Amino acid sequence: MADLPKKMKALVATKPGDYKIMEVDVPRAGDDDIIIKIEACGICAGDAKAYHGAERFWGGPNQPAYMKPPVIPGHEFIGHVVELGKNVKGFAIGDRVASDQIVPCWDCRFCKTGHYWMCQKHDIYGFQNNVNGGFAEYCRLPKGSLNWQVPKDIPMESAILIEPYSCAKHAVDRAQVTPTDVVVQAGVGCLGLGMVGYLRMHNPGKLVVLDMKDDRLELAREFGADIVINPSKEDAVKKVLDLTDGYGCDIYIEATGHPAAVKQGMDMIRKLGRFVEFSVFGAETTIDWSIIGDVKELDLLGAHLSPYCFPPVIEWIADGKLPTKGVVSHVFKLDDWEKAFDLASSGEGARRVVIVPN
Ligand SMILES: [Zn+2]
Ligand SMILES: [Zn+2]
Repeated sequence: MADLPKKMKALVATKPGDYKIMEVDVPRAGDDDIIIKIEACGICAGDAKAYHGAERFWGGPNQPAYMKPPVIPGHEFIGHVVELGKNVKGFAIGDRVASDQIVPCWDCRFCKTGHYWMCQKHDIYGFQNNVNGGFAEYCRLPKGSLNWQVPKDIPMESAILIEPYSCAKHAVDRAQVTPTDVVVQAGVGCLGLGMVGYLRMHNPGKLVVLDMKDDRLELAREFGADIVINPSKEDAVKKVLDLTDGYGCDIYIEATGHPAAVKQGMDMIRKLGRFVEFSVFGAETTIDWSIIGDVKELDLLGAHLSPYCFPPVIEWIADGKLPTKGVVSHVFKLDDWEKAFDLASSGEGARRVVIVPN
């Protein structure tokens, strides 16, 4: 048995807005588990929305609760192996590891047909207490988890983007970009910036990026956007229509999390266009659904998680094909989690906020 401490510090979520640092037991490896010492864990928009009580996570009139508290949040983590179950293959003590955010059950209809990211049970690190997450000193990667080697020479600020960039890759894959497409990427937080880098690899006809924050637009331009528009300063719909002889963009990828960006996309996408929805919203979205059918006959494509995306994304982050510089804007110690969550929630001057153990 490895020589691990008995107790560790962890952020524990019990109710919306009720998160605290607590002393909890260090998880130990069963025969099929890996225990990692956390190196860092990013704060996802979903983590911030869960903290603020979004119905999507805690339940409400429209949907059942998804969170199973008390739980240690955080699904965007990397760490080093400190204990291995006897059945675990392909990893050694000291390896640097990232793990797909979902721990598939491998037993439901979706898992059995290769669609593991839609697993019916749907255990995601940091939302259910049988799969505690990375805002802690140690974390257990249980049986069935999808774990990947992370080269040790990738700086933390880049390696921590493996999970969000993998989700970004999947969303862009859904759009089926061709070299003649005018693509509008709405929202360039961390995920959206990952999308810009991956969209650039497809060399679309034009890559247009929308965001309300100029610092993000600047980074998007560095990452390969052809045109950037701040809809709080310019008429984005008019600009995109002007750019496309009045037809509208071929593809619109919604990654802002704001209901208004859905309406904006419906207004600027061309007939027969492809609309990709990626966001987790804090509130319901209302549009005239006849646009989807009667007016434009759109392909409406959802995107969730990052199936089969970790291996290529790790490679592309390592070799620099996917730009990462400047995406992580802040790193906080675990004790300062509240400041970190507030900053991640407000988004003011922040792109990805990361927490490291004390
Ligand atoms: Zn995430
Ligand atoms: Zn399953």
